[in-house]
Amino acid sequence: MKSLSTLVMMLTMSVVLFGCTHNANEKELESFITAHVEKVKRMEKEASLASWDAAISGKSEDYDKVSELTLKVRQVYSDPGEFAFLKDVKESGQAKNAILARELDVLYNSYLENQIEPELLKKIVVLGTEIEKNFSTFRGTIQGKKVTDNEIKEILKAETNSFKRRQAWLASKQVGAVVADDIIRLVKLRNQAARKLGFDNYHTFSLATAEQDVQELDRIFKELYELTNEPFAQLKADLDTILATKYDVAVMELMLWHYHDPFFQETPMVYDLDLDVYYEDKDIKELATRFYAGIGLPVEPILANSDLYEREGKNPHAFCTDIDRQGDVRILCNLKNNESWMETILHELGHAVYDKYHDRQVPFLLRRPAHIFTTEAIAMFFGRLSRNPAWMQQMLELSDQQRAEIEKVSGKYAQLKQLIFARWDMVMYHFEKQLYANPEQDLNSLWWRMVEKYQFVKRPQGRNEPDWAAKIHFTIAPCYYHNYMLGELLASQLHHHIVHEVLNLESDENVSYVGRKEVGDFLAKNVFEAGAVYHWNEMIKRATGEQLTPKYFVAQFVK
Ligand SMILES: [Zn+2]
Repeated sequence: MKSLSTLVMMLTMSVVLFGCTHNANEKELESFITAHVEKVKRMEKEASLASWDAAISGKSEDYDKVSELTLKVRQVYSDPGEFAFLKDVKESGQAKNAILARELDVLYNSYLENQIEPELLKKIVVLGTEIEKNFSTFRGTIQGKKVTDNEIKEILKAETNSFKRRQAWLASKQVGAVVADDIIRLVKLRNQAARKLGFDNYHTFSLATAEQDVQELDRIFKELYELTNEPFAQLKADLDTILATKYDVAVMELMLWHYHDPFFQETPMVYDLDLDVYYEDKDIKELATRFYAGIGLPVEPILANSDLYEREGKNPHAFCTDIDRQGDVRILCNLKNNESWMETILHELGHAVYDKYHDRQVPFLLRRPAHIFTTEAIAMFFGRLSRNPAWMQQMLELSDQQRAEIEKVSGKYAQLKQLIFARWDMVMYHFEKQLYANPEQDLNSLWWRMVEKYQFVKRPQGRNEPDWAAKIHFTIAPCYYHNYMLGELLASQLHHHIVHEVLNLESDENVSYVGRKEVGDFLAKNVFEAGAVYHWNEMIKRATGEQLTPKYFVAQFVK
């Protein structure tokens, strides 16, 4: 594949060659972009730095600064006059130069997202914050005694008495009844805002601003549903047999509370697998550094700016941030030498190399991942390695016997994990789509119809409660959940392509990627460099020869 700088040059040259200098509209757009970039470049960098500082200090004044700066950036994008200009140029169809047209698309969507009427936006933010607060302060009760989310989780993991499990599950759903009416009001407000901007509802509006459309997603999810139907039934039947024995009930009597989390979105740990023992005497930072260097994507400059270990007040999770789209990319972690942090550092560095290896010739507005889910895909692609027996053997210098130990159950878990998540994500995607299409319908029944259809778990007899509302994502990350699944699909599609077309192997049985520079080269050239120069599906097609498809996810995890 051509490097992107050549591509940019060629696109520019073709304009010159055909003698069509930029038309008036293009020229106007170009100066608009220059002025815009000049303005936001500085503001965004300031906001990113403030956010980084706040994550490390945990001080509320630092967080206040972040809100203030983020608001300033938003204000730029909410300007109705500037949006009208972009809309005009877009509708005139006169932005012919491919790069310019792409910049226009990206810019147009960023403005469109922020065109919600200020009064309405205020109501949405206030109500959203109120619901979020109710979520974080509410405690469910078991026999009148308050329990925390962690206590509920513990019971669902370890308790063998069905009655107690049911009580814990019911406690996890109590918050639903508290917030459901507010969530429906919030959905209606969001719909109102979307309709004012010419969309059917907020779901279609959100997808459009994210360059996704409902039909395309429906197609992908339908295919995934069909391809996973039988394998999931099989896998779940095995799991159910184990669970039924464990809880001493008939398989027929298994209910949602017999799985290990309130939504059956995670893998019940029913087979013995403890990978931490292999990592506890290793330095996972060193492992990650060595691995990325070996595939030709050195991460030392990223790690040098990063903050990797626990500290008082610091954000306890992990993330990656591109501070300036000029190479200052950092990750935040709270490393411990165990499997979960191994996965996390590989994951965050996946995001980081994507950002780090954009071609700097690409215009600022396009110097970012093709889509939020494509960067998630790269992160998942690398994160998955922490449990890969071949990778573990090479990186941790394990014996064949140790590898065989891991292989006995790790494949099974990977399969369970991915299929359980896929079926759960289908519930979220389809429910949310219908929630916005008609918030007046019987949502309690709709939810259970989805759970029965996709997760094969029965609605408890007579149950008519807003169990769906206990999922915080409808409030804090609306119309986003499908992206997790798309990320997994793309991670598998890239894996398949690299194994067969880049490494020229027959199967992925022994693939660890360790020391294979071709892998880093392929990803840099075909995914990272171009940033958002192409629409995400165009990028995927260029990189793998096909648009996004669930085929390879199924090939990898359905054995
Ligand atoms: Zn991520």
